Amino acid sequence: MADYRLIYNCPGCGKPSKTPEGALTNRCEYCGLVVRIGAPRRVLKYFYPSKIDQYGARMAADRYLKNKNLPLTENIIKTNFYYLPFYRFRGMALDYLAPAIEMVEVSEGSVMPVKSKPALKGKDFDVTVSAFASDQFKLATLGIRPKATPLYAFSRDELSEEAIIVGSNITPSQAEKQAMELHKNNISLYNKSEPICSAMIGEQISVIYFPVWAVIHEKEGRLNTVFVDALAKRGYNQTAGGFEYDGSKSTERNSYFIKPMKHQCPNCGADLQEKHFSLFYPCRNCDRAFIINSDGYREIKCLTAEANFCAPYWRFPLELKSRKQYRTVDEFYSLLTSEIALLRKEKRGRQFYLYSPAFKATDVTRWAKRASGVLKTQPHDRLFEKLPSESLDVCIDEIEAAEMAVFLWRMASAKYSKIQHDSFYFTENDLPQGELVWLPVQDFMLLSKSVDFREVNIRR
Ligand SMILES: [Zn+2]
Ligand SMILES: [Zn+2]
Repeated sequence: MADYRLIYNCPGCGKPSKTPEGALTNRCEYCGLVVRIGAPRRVLKYFYPSKIDQYGARMAADRYLKNKNLPLTENIIKTNFYYLPFYRFRGMALDYLAPAIEMVEVSEGSVMPVKSKPALKGKDFDVTVSAFASDQFKLATLGIRPKATPLYAFSRDELSEEAIIVGSNITPSQAEKQAMELHKNNISLYNKSEPICSAMIGEQISVIYFPVWAVIHEKEGRLNTVFVDALAKRGYNQTAGGFEYDGSKSTERNSYFIKPMKHQCPNCGADLQEKHFSLFYPCRNCDRAFIINSDGYREIKCLTAEANFCAPYWRFPLELKSRKQYRTVDEFYSLLTSEIALLRKEKRGRQFYLYSPAFKATDVTRWAKRASGVLKTQPHDRLFEKLPSESLDVCIDEIEAAEMAVFLWRMASAKYSKIQHDSFYFTENDLPQGELVWLPVQDFMLLSKSVDFREVNIRR
């Protein structure tokens, strides 16, 4: 069942159309117009509409005060309505953990130190980080919000006049750093060993504006402010005095607003399909293929294996140099000496590639393990320049894929001390341009988990 949560105004019919949050393209449920909503690497802004008005806010404040055995609001001085920005940061977190020494019971009463194998851990990562000075509003996190609560595309005209939109005082990259710190702390909490390498793939950052009422009331000459969560319709904190926010307000200078546009082939103008989370759109009319990038569409070449069902991968040719040059599969075999699949004679003389899945799957560990297998076997399927038939959606852009490719390489090469040599070191910025290839899939378990891929709900 679809999980519709974002509402935008359709440019075709003007009605509020629903789409899953984070979707790139969508078909209007009323008029059928297909639009492009987002783009990779865009910080999209959303808001939750308030579920209560001023009167409701006062009721909520009174319930809060009553529970605390405090005098109820008597004289309402002012009721301010605020929108507080939170960054929501999502991705797939991958960690390749070093072997650890564990004490294992070998027979009754006797334990022995045993060295565990290195382990790959993958998990969905989803946190919110407040983008404002949270102590002022006494609200540090967005908490858990029901999936059923729809988010709306943020635009000034959709918000009530009286709303005070609090400015963000941290940048998306600072938020990202905070989120990564949170992840690191979690990893060290659950594991005994340090990661050899880590990566965060498929990141999406969005800003969610959360509605809060501040009810300022007076009793016997003393002012007090109760903060009300306008979604849960519940007071959550209070402070002495009449609270007026005096920090920065949103300038909306760096904002990107959701502007749905017609989703059409940039070459021939034919309508393109809607595939919520896909970056890849073939045009069946002119047989060209495009991927969505930050400013529109980019035409790409598709290299496809002859198979009933394929999965898309990004690949990057790799060349390393020390005293010797490494470019082909057999040359790389002299570095990755235990990967005997590289020995097959069909692979001799072929270019060695780093591979990275362009699709997502809910089972992140399995997804990464499969990808690591592709790197270590260097598939030699014949590829044809044609549009893929049935395939998984391309959900990971080239920049993210390059990061993943480097992670997989570090994982594959971790046990070879020879490769740890400085002259072999490279980062995703050193990789040449990648290309999309569609390779046959064998792991149908992973497939079923990928076809059903859905965005996850907000967690702390
Ligand atoms: Zn419409
Ligand atoms: Zn076309």
